[in-house]
Amino acid sequence: MEGGAIFLETHHVIALSEGGPDVEWNVVAICPNDHRRAHYGEDRIALRKRLIAVLVVQFPEKMDALATINQSGMHRSP
Ligand SMILES: [Zn+2]
Repeated sequence: MEGGAIFLETHHVIALSEGGPDVEWNVVAICPNDHRRAHYGEDRIALRKRLIAVLVVQFPEKMDALATINQSGMHRSP
């Protein structure tokens, strides 16, 4: 941004529409380009895996919950 500030958007790694919770351990701050990529990119599934790995490092106690919700969400239609 003007002045050199960084603009970030928040993204639910497991979408609310897929049963992801609206909590801190399901949210990342990413730049607008990567945010678009996370929703519409051909590599969005791989990117989601990487973002989940980041969340697991930050919130290790939520590892099981993230894995369970991720698996159930992966089978839903986009
Ligand atoms: Zn998003």
